Amino acid sequence: MSFRSKAIETSLDRSPIPLSPPSEKITELYAVNTFSEDVMRALLSPEAYIKISNAIRSGSHIDREVAEEVATAMKSWAISRGATHYTHWFQPLTGTTAEKHDSFFDLSGSGKAVEKFKGSALVQQEPDASSFPSGGLRATFEARGYTGWDPSSPAFLMDNGAGGKTLCIPSVFISYTGEALDYKAPLLRALNMLDKAATAVCQYFNRDVTKVTATLGAEQEYFLVDKALYYARPDLVMSGRTVFGHSPARGQQLEDHYFGSISPRINAFMVDFEFEALKLGIPVRTRHNEVAPGQYECAPTFEEMNLAIDHNALLMDLMQKVAEKHHFKVLFHEKPFAGINGSGKHNNWSMSTDTGINLLAPTSKPKENLRFLTFLVNVVKAVHDNADLLRASIASSGNEHRLGANEAPPAIVSVFLGTELTKMLEELISRGEITLEKGENFYYKLGINRIPNLLRDNTDRNRTSPFAFTGNKFEYRAVGSSANSASAMIVLNTIVARQLMEFKRELDERLNTGEEKKIAVVEILKKYYTDSKRILFEGNGYSQEWVDEAERRGLSNIGNSYDALREYISDSAVEVFESMEVLTKRELHARYEIELENYVKKIQIESRVVGDLAINHIVSTAVKYQHKLAQTARSLTDLDMTGEAEPIKEIIMEISNHVKVIKGLVQDMTESRKRANAIEDSVEKARLYGSEVKSYFEKIRYHVDKLELVIDDEDWPLVKYREMLFIK
Ligand code: ADP
Ligand code: MG
Repeated sequence: MSFRSKAIETSLDRSPIPLSPPSEKITELYAVNTFSEDVMRALLSPEAYIKISNAIRSGSHIDREVAEEVATAMKSWAISRGATHYTHWFQPLTGTTAEKHDSFFDLSGSGKAVEKFKGSALVQQEPDASSFPSGGLRATFEARGYTGWDPSSPAFLMDNGAGGKTLCIPSVFISYTGEALDYKAPLLRALNMLDKAATAVCQYFNRDVTKVTATLGAEQEYFLVDKALYYARPDLVMSGRTVFGHSPARGQQLEDHYFGSISPRINAFMVDFEFEALKLGIPVRTRHNEVAPGQYECAPTFEEMNLAIDHNALLMDLMQKVAEKHHFKVLFHEKPFAGINGSGKHNNWSMSTDTGINLLAPTSKPKENLRFLTFLVNVVKAVHDNADLLRASIASSGNEHRLGANEAPPAIVSVFLGTELTKMLEELISRGEITLEKGENFYYKLGINRIPNLLRDNTDRNRTSPFAFTGNKFEYRAVGSSANSASAMIVLNTIVARQLMEFKRELDERLNTGEEKKIAVVEILKKYYTDSKRILFEGNGYSQEWVDEAERRGLSNIGNSYDALREYISDSAVEVFESMEVLTKRELHARYEIELENYVKKIQIESRVVGDLAINHIVSTAVKYQHKLAQTARSLTDLDMTGEAEPIKEIIMEISNHVKVIKGLVQDMTESRKRANAIEDSVEKARLYGSEVKSYFEKIRYHVDKLELVIDDEDWPLVKYREMLFIK
């Protein structure tokens, strides 16, 4: 029995894992596995609690005694709930999360067994970090990296499946010299800058605002494949995507999967991971089927961004763990299957004040709508001025398959505002210099008194725009499903912070000349809008017309990752990041190096998988099948049925032709990989991998997929698309 048929049999035998849903209400079990503020209030002395909650809100320093007290409380809380180990939990630039478990157990001086967790271990740890990418930031003589506790994201208990639990402490990861080696450190810096910049701008409108937080709701798309089928596909195991596979007769053309009913086995998995997520304080809310067969989405309620990003990273990890139990594998790759939709992670982003205002939500108060427009137009300007940087922030080998592939936003960054809002802004700028007659209603005159109605009545949603305004937030839709959202959000927060600071500078300049505030604000917004309106696009972002139109407008269309990533080290990017104190030039260069290296490694692995499968699985099967056919043809000829043997000979010829081409292409690909490997320069290496080595994949695939149609289904070694996508 072949590996494939065994896998199919196993997967067909499965039934939904029976669940015993917790008896508590969701409100009771929500966040029970986190060391939340409520827990701290109960366990800490009032003094320590006040200090820690201040640190959480304002990032103020935590002194040693408080750290000691928190550590002791954390330890007893965790141990009483079954934890045996603790770890700093961080997000290195490999794109996954990292943890190194240490036991609470230790020996005292007299050799007695004790449980120990000191304040110093809570605050800082030194994992053996030399194997994490650093882009040259850690010279070998100083290979140390430190993880540092982030008190603003609660510690949590993670079940490691085999009964034990680990206390996980969200942390930043930095080098000995204080340079960021992860996503969280620059994210926190960017959030801090955005807070400063946005609060200062809010002050012109609402004096009582003292803090602005960025909010994020990350919709996560993914595929589920039965575990047995997954392991029968070496390409999925090695590279997260299928490199071969003919499209099934039925793909997504019927569009019957989207929002269709969820199969019981899948549903059991979803219910299970959602309960676990809720216990970890991840506010998962919606679940549904996505467009492609086998594809699903999970969306949480939005949260403060640092928390939302930790939660998304944790959710991805959790889903994978829970999937084990249900005999599934979760595919987070942006394009696991050719010919059907890939997966994204829509980043819904806004800013909200400590007085409860969503700065991107229009209100029924005309006066407040000027504030709304201020933030809206500044975001558009920031995106316009830094479009290439936003493009760089979502570049990866996986996302390369998705962007611009007629199913996902194009590689052109554009902004969708909706027809009505655009019309309103157009009217605003066409008004010439603004003067006010005595007693005239300014907001009425400008037409900004009617924004909420405009939006309510015209909820046009453009699903083809990479960066769309959706009524009270922007949705960055081009982010890849496997990405750490922080990559895109660091850039977005930084460029918006910088733009808001620039706005404040210009506004102050005008106010100093005695200009009236409202008029000065509108004048600046008019200028910004005019300067950046070429980035606005309302039409079909997936169409060729848009590609042509964008070119006429002079907008960038950077198709591949290695070119897109270069923007990270451009003079303007360095200036933006350094002026906002988010990343230094050295850190940017390191990140660029790491991204290129990730890119090369991924394509290198894919290329090896393509070669291995093509030769050792496909060609060998084809040759065996040919032999069978040849025997049949010979028997027919022996029976004087030469005519009947003819079509069989034709199939033999057809197989021969494909085999010959495949062998030649694999050889050429291997040569080109060797050439690329010999190159020292990382930029040139990535270019060669991305342009040359990768170009063989589709060519080889074409012939392999043709063979799939010719060779007896019984003999075909790889689990087919229809099996991976439809058995559940
Ligand atoms: P759709 O699939 O139509 O885009 P969903 O309801 O699935 O919409 O997802 C919308 C996401 O946007 C949710 O995660 C939601 O919490 C989030 N969201 C709503 N308001 C805000 C906001 N002010 N800031 C950030 N995210 C938000
Ligand atoms: Mg969405």
